[in-house]
Amino acid sequence: MDKQISRVAVLGAGTMGHGIAQVAASSGYETRLYDIDEAAVERGAARIRNNLDKGVSLGKVTEEAQAEALARLTFTTELEVAAHEADLVVEAAPESMELKRGLFGTVEEVVTEDSIIASNTSSLSIGDLSSLLQHPKRFIGLHFFNPVHIMALVEIVWGPATAPETREAAVAFAKSLGKQPIVVKDSPGFASSRLGIILGLEAMRMLEEGVASAEDIDAAMTLGYRHPMGPLRLTDLVGLDVRLEIADYLHGTLGSEAFAAPAILRRLVAEGKLGKKTGEGFHIWEDE
Ligand code: NAD
Repeated sequence: MDKQISRVAVLGAGTMGHGIAQVAASSGYETRLYDIDEAAVERGAARIRNNLDKGVSLGKVTEEAQAEALARLTFTTELEVAAHEADLVVEAAPESMELKRGLFGTVEEVVTEDSIIASNTSSLSIGDLSSLLQHPKRFIGLHFFNPVHIMALVEIVWGPATAPETREAAVAFAKSLGKQPIVVKDSPGFASSRLGIILGLEAMRMLEEGVASAEDIDAAMTLGYRHPMGPLRLTDLVGLDVRLEIADYLHGTLGSEAFAAPAILRRLVAEGKLGKKTGEGFHIWEDE
């Protein structure tokens, strides 16, 4: 598995996939962006063009670099075309074990034995995702953050069968994108969600207990700890429903009561107050 990565296939052209394809193409990789849905491919392509246009207008991307990145990109609805001769396949399809496993089975039939297959999953077990593969040593988690072209972190998650060479190649790839990789053993919530969710849930418990207002709890972290955003505001941005799902999953798998979802979170979700996307969560979102 000492092969150089030059061709990258990204599976799924949604929120994460288009961003991963953009940074890969901008970093010199011949990149194919695939989606099962033609409209999603077109939307993904348009978002990449918009991001690069914005980069040029802000002076962060040169016109030459923009043209080169676009020239390295291919958009397709054919998985075989995307994965053909790919050295690295990054899957960014919906968060479903069954769907992702199905995709990997097809990918393994197309790529060579030393190609790396990665998943951008934010929660699913890397060991379980790769358990049906013929060569699970080439499988790894490559967890990017949204928006991909801006966020510096890539969480590299290695499973029980992941080969050390795969891990090293993933670290080198993340660095080549200008990202900061962290290497994490396959475990529920990896490093990022496991820590991030604790802060959010504790902030909710404090709100329930009347310790302080939502604004003041958030200010405690932004002004006191220099967090760019308070834990309740961040929960509103991520979506209360999404955070509830993660909390339930981590509570079930890790067992600690620190991950038990507070009643206020369940109540707000049941009332349809999901955060920014519905206009109200722990804060009111007007015209934002
Ligand atoms: P999304 O819904 O925006 O995009 C998913 C895309 O996959 C859609 O365009 C859909 O048409 C496509 N798709 C559906 N079935 C497919 C298939 N069989 N083959 C190929 N494409 C298929 O989702 P997203 O937010 O980009 O999330 C993708 C993955 O990234 C998930 O595993 C998610 O947990 C993870 N993730 C998301 C975020 C985030 O902030 N959104 C952050 C980190 C990781």
